[in-house]
Amino acid sequence: MKVLVPVKRVLDYNVKPRVKADGSGVDLANVKMSMNPFDEIAVEEAIRLKEKGTVTEIVAVSIGEAKAQETLRTALAMGADRAILVTAEDKVEPLGVAKILAKIVEEEQPSLVILGKQAIDDDNNQTGQMLAGLLGWGQATFASKIELTADAARVTREVDGGLETDSYKLPAIVTTDLRLNEPRYASLPNIMKAKSKPLAQKTAADFGVDVTPRIKTLKVTEPAKRQAGIKVADVDELVNKLKSMGIAK
Ligand code: AMP
Repeated sequence: MKVLVPVKRVLDYNVKPRVKADGSGVDLANVKMSMNPFDEIAVEEAIRLKEKGTVTEIVAVSIGEAKAQETLRTALAMGADRAILVTAEDKVEPLGVAKILAKIVEEEQPSLVILGKQAIDDDNNQTGQMLAGLLGWGQATFASKIELTADAARVTREVDGGLETDSYKLPAIVTTDLRLNEPRYASLPNIMKAKSKPLAQKTAADFGVDVTPRIKTLKVTEPAKRQAGIKVADVDELVNKLKSMGIAK
C-alpha cells in the first residue's frame, strides 16, 4: 500500500515570529525554517505503518520554494522512500495546494494521504479537507490513532467531547493531531542515505493548476503585549486579590 505525505516548510516553532515593519506579513529572512510539526507526525505515522507491514511505500511531497527540498530531505532521512518537490513562484494557498495534491494522487494512486491537521504558519486547517472534497474521498481529521487493513482505516479522532473512532473505506485522507505519535529524529547515517533517495522536481505549471492567490492579506500585526503579572505571598493573598478583582467571591 502506498501512502502520500504532504509536508510544508514553515517558520520553526521555536522561533518567535517578527512582523515586517510595513505590516505585510511575517519576516522570513534569515530565520530557521523546519518541517511543519504536524507533518513530522504524519511522516512518523507513515513510517510506523510501514514498519508494521501494511504500508510498502511512502512518498513525501512539498509545494513551495526550492528550499522546500531541505524539508523533503528531512522526510527522506526519517524514512520516506522518495519525494516530489513542486516549486511555485508565489505562496500557494490551501486550495492551490489541494488541487496540485489531487493531480499527484491521480498519478501516484496512493491508498492513503496523511497530512498535518494544520500548518503552523497560516493556521488554515483546510488543505486535507479540500483535498478530500476534490477527490470525493472520506476524511478522518484530527487523528490520534490509525489502524490499517487492506481496504479500510480505523481512525480515532480527537473531537470536542473526547475521542471518536470511525472506520473509513480506502482510499482516504487522514489529518494528524498532536497525540498521534512522537516523531523520531533522523540519525546521521539516515541523513547521509537520504541524499541519494529519489527526489523528483516539478513546477506548479506542470500540473496545469491555477495557483493565483485568491486571498489578499490586508495587515499583519503583533499580538498585544501581555501585562506584567503580580507575585503573591500565599493563597490567602491570592484569594483576596481575586475577590478585589471580582474574579472570585
Ligand atoms: P493548512 O491547511 O495550510 O493548515 O495545512 C494542512 C496540511 O496540508 C499541512 O499540515 C500539510 O500536510 C499540508 N500542506 C499545506 N500546505 C502545503 C504545502 N505547501 N506543501 C505540502 N503540504 C502542504
